[in-house]
Amino acid sequence: MSADVEHWNPDMELLGREDLEALQLERLRKTLQRCTSSPFYQAWFRSADFDPRKVGSLADMSNLPCMDKDTLRDGDPTRFLTVPLDDIVRMHSSSGTTGQATVTFHTAADIEAWAELVARCMYMTGVRRTDVFQNMMGYGLFTGGLGFHYAAERIGAMVIPAGSGNSRRQIQLMRDFHTTVVHIIPSYALYLLEVFGELGLDPRTGTDLRIAFIGAEPHTEALRQRIEETYGVDAYNSYGLTEMCGPGVAFECPAKQGMHVWEDSFLVEVLDPVTLELVEEGEEGELVFTTLNREGMPLLRYRTHDLASVHPGECSCGRVHRRISRIKGRSDDMFIIKGVNVFPMQVERVLLEALGVGSNYRIVLDTVGSMDEMRVLVEVAGELWRGEVRELNRLRRKITEELRQEVLVTPLVELVEPGSLPAGEGKAVRVVDKREHARGD
Ligand code: ADP
Ligand code: ZN
Repeated sequence: MSADVEHWNPDMELLGREDLEALQLERLRKTLQRCTSSPFYQAWFRSADFDPRKVGSLADMSNLPCMDKDTLRDGDPTRFLTVPLDDIVRMHSSSGTTGQATVTFHTAADIEAWAELVARCMYMTGVRRTDVFQNMMGYGLFTGGLGFHYAAERIGAMVIPAGSGNSRRQIQLMRDFHTTVVHIIPSYALYLLEVFGELGLDPRTGTDLRIAFIGAEPHTEALRQRIEETYGVDAYNSYGLTEMCGPGVAFECPAKQGMHVWEDSFLVEVLDPVTLELVEEGEEGELVFTTLNREGMPLLRYRTHDLASVHPGECSCGRVHRRISRIKGRSDDMFIIKGVNVFPMQVERVLLEALGVGSNYRIVLDTVGSMDEMRVLVEVAGELWRGEVRELNRLRRKITEELRQEVLVTPLVELVEPGSLPAGEGKAVRVVDKREHARGD
């Protein structure tokens, strides 16, 4: 493969719509053929009365029922394999955010294809062999570490496989080796700012950073902007899931108007989570993916439970691969309080737009008497915390009112000291539900 100035893989990135769909159909049929050798799919096709040989269009896939994490959890994961186990060279597993982690197996060709996809993403945003890439994601079973690692090496950048945590060391590495590009969990990027502050450093002047890849967890546009402004970088949203490969499923291009799903590798559907019918273009629904280029463990119509929409129209960058919106959250992230459906991202948007809010927040749901109560604990910026109580009260009232308008429930807002809320190194825990029914008693 030969890169041009802007595209890592111009053959795939610049395909026209018709050619792209023809390629998708060809790859889909190959995938279905492959699936007939897996014990799971043999039974799955039989029970759905689905004949994979009769698939003549992409739309025909709607005759096959969807699968999800529960399908993967229900038994031995090797039953999805379409190759002998000896052909598998690596496994990964999901983070287990919503329950038991799921396992994905890769052949050598799968690993190769995955590295190519992530290299395409990184190159698209301007990463080159002259860059120094510090990967601040967990290495190991989590896909964010190795997934980006091999891609960056493929581009020829120098990789610092820093892994997650150890914040002061991360900053030291950035400064000593002139890191230009980082891959970081967005909530951790905010936390790390505090550590920069403790060291008396400003990342804008004290580092050579120019690009940040942020992903692995839902975050708002306001959070992206805060990262861009405070670090002096371009921050690009990176979406993926272990079941599809990991990072590299959908990624923002420099236009930052949604994330391109690499449709040569994934068939994407946006379905109504209740009826499982396709929603209209531009409407929100659940992302459902089919792998088109996976050898070891292809997945068909895999329900992610992630909610997003497809942006209508074409991107100014010239790639026709469809763009999805920022992920609103998982359908499982939604909580119901006093009869109202709330997503943590609605709360985040309000908080980050309010001046004086620090880097962390947490939503605590509890039962007080017989009533549900929603408390929002918000770290405030250091200066404000040390300043006048009057100002703190003003901020608390403002946030309470804006949250009430956004979620239609009046929360109890508590402003807390910077650094006092627990900050993890992995995906942030935004909601703690202590209500009686949530405990299952
Ligand atoms: P788990 O599903 O257990 O968290 P993964 O590590 O495979 O395990 O994480 C994939 C999930 O992470 C996605 O299904 C999605 O919910 C979330 N995610 C990944 N990237 C993003 C992103 N850019 N924006 C929002 N959510 C994301
Ligand atoms: Zn684009």
